[in-house]
Amino acid sequence: MGTLEGAVAVITGAGRGIGRAIAEELGQGGARVIVNYSRSKEPAEDLVQKLKEHGSRQAVAIQADVSDATQAARLIEETVQHFGRIDILVNNAGINLDRTMKKMTVEDWNTVIQVDLNSLFYTVKAALPYFTEQKSGTIINISSFVGQMGNFGQANYSAAKSGIIGFTKTAALELARSHVTVNAICPGFIETEMYAIIPEKVKEAILQRIPLGRVGTPQEVARAVRYLIVDGEYITGQTLNINGGIYM
Ligand code: NAD
Repeated sequence: MGTLEGAVAVITGAGRGIGRAIAEELGQGGARVIVNYSRSKEPAEDLVQKLKEHGSRQAVAIQADVSDATQAARLIEETVQHFGRIDILVNNAGINLDRTMKKMTVEDWNTVIQVDLNSLFYTVKAALPYFTEQKSGTIINISSFVGQMGNFGQANYSAAKSGIIGFTKTAALELARSHVTVNAICPGFIETEMYAIIPEKVKEAILQRIPLGRVGTPQEVARAVRYLIVDGEYITGQTLNINGGIYM
């Protein structure tokens, strides 16, 4: 890619947290940003306004539940209708429903796999014809260190996040001939609402496990996304760990 200026970037689940920080980082770099949201319109519209005021030439909010194949495909179609192309796809949307396997229901399992893993196939499949026709593009999938090392009470989430890594490598192989790079980012614990709901006692124990002694910020993940897009032309099929050393 080399530059963000004028590039069209779709970020799923961009209303808050890591997705929002990625949208801000890319928008400030001059990208035209599609802010995808599922339910909360207000934070997404607020972000679009902010992006327009600070750098991004254009930004648009598009509602779509990416765990639904039809809605995920519509997100990509509406992006192309709006901006005429798609250059960057960041699959960020994710949820967790944590329980030990003893208590985890089949529904808990399926819901997390559907949102955190299947949605990536839906968006990438829909974007694929545009990327291959353009013969350029970048896909970045937000996985997790939990997909690399497992985590107590997160069988569904860790399976989805591991799956993202395998999916990323295969997509990288299949799209390389079209000059499209596909990489995964594995964040460690990052200060967002997903982290905020963890009980204080558990947070204290978590901090003990992080060699750098603190949780990360959404902006630190966003800067890694920007790096892969702007300076990562020769990087594909990789997982980039932004985790304070919790998994090496
Ligand atoms: P978050 O809960 O703050 O934000 C997730 C966003 O995804 C929300 O805006 C939510 O509305 C959206 N979303 C959820 N389901 C959706 C759907 N079906 N369609 C469209 N949007 C949907 O979480 P976050 O911490 O910002 O997490 C972002 C990503 O980073 C997730 O994939 C998460 O698994 C991953 N991650 C987070 C951490 C962390 O510690 N926060 C660590 C590792 C990986």
